Amino acid sequence: MSTQLALEDDPRLIRLTDEVYVFGTYPYSGLVVTDEGCIAIDGPMSPNICAPWKEFIDAKGPLRYQVYCEHHSDHTISAPYLQPEVLVSSETTRGVMDTDEVAREAMRTWGAYPDVDSAVIDGYRMAYPTLTYRGRLNLELGGKRFTLFEAPGHTMGSTVVHAIDDRVAFIADLGATPAIQSGDPVAWLTTIALLETLDVDWYVQGHMDPMRREDLHEWRLALLGALDTARERDREGLTPDQIVAQGGVFDVAKILGGKTFLGRDDIPPGLLTFGAGALQAIGAERMSEAVHRHPTDSLSAALGPVSTQE
Ligand SMILES: [Zn+2]
Repeated sequence: MSTQLALEDDPRLIRLTDEVYVFGTYPYSGLVVTDEGCIAIDGPMSPNICAPWKEFIDAKGPLRYQVYCEHHSDHTISAPYLQPEVLVSSETTRGVMDTDEVAREAMRTWGAYPDVDSAVIDGYRMAYPTLTYRGRLNLELGGKRFTLFEAPGHTMGSTVVHAIDDRVAFIADLGATPAIQSGDPVAWLTTIALLETLDVDWYVQGHMDPMRREDLHEWRLALLGALDTARERDREGLTPDQIVAQGGVFDVAKILGGKTFLGRDDIPPGLLTFGAGALQAIGAERMSEAVHRHPTDSLSAALGPVSTQE
């Protein structure tokens, strides 16, 4: 009898190289394997979906590090299930992470999965980073180099994990998503310009399949287009609520349409309604704040978080 490896035939498992894997769930979760163990980047929001990912990781080696790339609840649920030796985030992210009760509330509302037992949620306790950094953090594991750096934009404390020797950058939600509710468009555009200069083959993002540099370039232009739209709406005198009523500043169909998206079925059902309402409204406010500042006054991570729990 042969033993089936976890996720072996799962279409959501993307193998970028023999030592770099992406689990295309919600959110997309990364893994780099070395001779001395593994580094996980983010992890699934659903406790039930964490289980096969944990099994897959264990088959590849001990989980030495896990990196939380941002504070949003969908990125910060998994560590109690994946059980890394060391959990890493930026100091800015650590400062705005959920409390236990806020995390449970997210798991009961917009992030609810019908197959997750309510007792699991009632007993859920956050795991907090045991290693935080500001600016940049260089790690070496199994002879491979990793540079983690603060990359403000989607959130002000967002972390990029540059797996230098594997030629992959894990950029989480700095990739294509209209969710700008905790971020700043100018910081985001500046960060993307930096990401374009990395010497990598792949950019692994949080809510869509891994990108090439051309895709990142296209996304940067879409984000710039959204900033232009925000300026036009502002000149017309529209309030953020009126902007949302007109469909917001992002052309979501254009950003997300026509691309493969393995994780689509793993999006918690409540997010789609929540995303259409509250997130868009806060996002429109962030965009109109940004158009009232000169770009040189754009917020940077050094100034600390402007993020809210949303
Ligand atoms: Zn996010």
